[in-house]
Amino acid sequence: MKPKYKRVLLKLSGESLAGNATHGIDFDTVLKICEPIKKCADMGVQIAIVVGGGNFWRGRSSGQMDRTRADHMGMLATTINALGVADALEQLGMQVRVQTAIAMQQIAEPYIRNRAVRHLEKGRVVVFGCGTGNPFFSTDTAAALRAAEIDADIIMKATMVDGVYDSDPKKNPNAVKYDSLSFMEVLNKNLQVMDSTAASLCKDNKIPILVFSINEPENILKAVCGEPIGTIVEEDS
Ligand code: UDP
Repeated sequence: MKPKYKRVLLKLSGESLAGNATHGIDFDTVLKICEPIKKCADMGVQIAIVVGGGNFWRGRSSGQMDRTRADHMGMLATTINALGVADALEQLGMQVRVQTAIAMQQIAEPYIRNRAVRHLEKGRVVVFGCGTGNPFFSTDTAAALRAAEIDADIIMKATMVDGVYDSDPKKNPNAVKYDSLSFMEVLNKNLQVMDSTAASLCKDNKIPILVFSINEPENILKAVCGEPIGTIVEEDS
């Protein structure tokens, strides 16, 4: 297998780290996800990771709370996940740096773009925590932002479904999966690939997004090698 991309931004949802549980981190699952990441890095692919936090907390689902404060809690949740992923990668023998958009220097580096790029060039995996550092945003938007900043070739969005469908495949057995889509189609059809802020950012900066299932962690390796999995969202040709 040969890599198709040189530098990728992998987005891992919080949910993907919980395994069969509804909440928290299942470390065996995290290790399984990290194994193919190591294989990609061993092939020379530079990997940056943005982690979600939905396995602990989502600001928008917090109900009675003030949204800004709830989002602060969500960003802290992403940092817990970032540390978990970093630990698993280190256990597999990799060099890793965690950078957070909100400074917490006793446990992670602050996000500094040039430093992140330098780590990548040295073959270290960089895990970004705290999303964008701002409330009212999502980690999908953080993935789009960081991908643009570090000049990633692609965003690989590992999710619980195997691609983008025309309707929810859990509710509609006749839902049809797309192999490819343009950003305009995603925005106009309101397809739930990622939120509209993230999709617009990717569209404006011409960053393709590959959406695929993390239930088979080896898909990360397949995605990096350009095998036809999931759904690719890119500019109209
Ligand atoms: N969050 C935020 N700003 C960001 C990214 C995330 O406030 O830039 C908060 C927000 O509350 C969000 C939570 O962190 O609900 C977890 O992120 P997300 O819901 O994107 O995680 P995922 O669904 O990917 O697990």
